[in-house]
Amino acid sequence: KDIKPVKSDYRIVSDSLFAPFEFQNSSKKYVGIDVDLMQAIAKNQKFNITMDFVGFQTAIDQTQASHADGMIAGMSITDERKKVFDFSDPYFTANATIAVKSTTTNIKSYKDLKGKTVGVKNGTASQTFLDKNKDKYGYSVKVFDAADTMYESLNTGSIDAFMDDEPVVKYAILQGKKFATPLEPEKIGEYGFAVKKGTNPELLAMFNAGLAKLKANGQYDTIVEKYMGNTD
Ligand code: GLN
Repeated sequence: KDIKPVKSDYRIVSDSLFAPFEFQNSSKKYVGIDVDLMQAIAKNQKFNITMDFVGFQTAIDQTQASHADGMIAGMSITDERKKVFDFSDPYFTANATIAVKSTTTNIKSYKDLKGKTVGVKNGTASQTFLDKNKDKYGYSVKVFDAADTMYESLNTGSIDAFMDDEPVVKYAILQGKKFATPLEPEKIGEYGFAVKKGTNPELLAMFNAGLAKLKANGQYDTIVEKYMGNTD
C-alpha cells in the first residue's frame, strides 16, 4: 500500500562537503550517494523535496528546530542520537578512522597522539569519540565546521591528524589527497536518514519503502557504484 505525503514539499538538509556522499561537482552542482539516493527515493515514492547543503551540525540543528523535515548526511545511527531523532533503516555501513599526512611515520597507535592536535568536524560521531578518549591519550581536539578547512589544516601542519569516516578519507585519498590511515578504524554505527523524533512519520516510512525498492531493483547498487572508486 502506498504511503501518502502530507506536505507538498519536504525540506531535506545535508552536509556541505562529505564526498562521495554529498559534494559539489565541477559545475558546482551538489551530487553524491546521499543526493542521488534521496532524489531516487522521492521519485519512487512520489513526494517532492528541496535539498539544502548547510553543513553537518547546522543540519542537526535545523532538523531539531523543525526548520527542516529530515536530514541525510552520512549520519551514523547512534543510541545518543536515537533520543532526539527517528532513523530510517540503515542504508550504508561506515567506520571512522584517524588520518594523517602520508609523510607522517610516528603515529601508529592512539598513544602516539599524545601532545598532538587532532581535527574533527563539529557534531560528528568522531567528535564524540575523540572527546571521550582525550584524557586517556593526551591529545587536544580542534573542531571544524567543514572538511575542506580541516584537510587544509592538516596540509599546513596546524593539526597533526584528523578523524573522519573511513569511506570519506579513502575517497579523498583516491582523489589525490596525500593522507594515510595508520590506525584501526572505530565502529560508529550505520548511516540512516533522520527526522526529528516523533515528527514526519510518513516521510520516514516513504524513505524506508523507497530504499527497499531501490535495493530490490538494483538502483541502490548503481548509485553507490557510480561514486565509490570513481575518481571523476
Ligand atoms: N558519520 C558521521 C556522523 O554521523 C559523520 C557524518 C558527517 O560528517 N557528515 O557523525
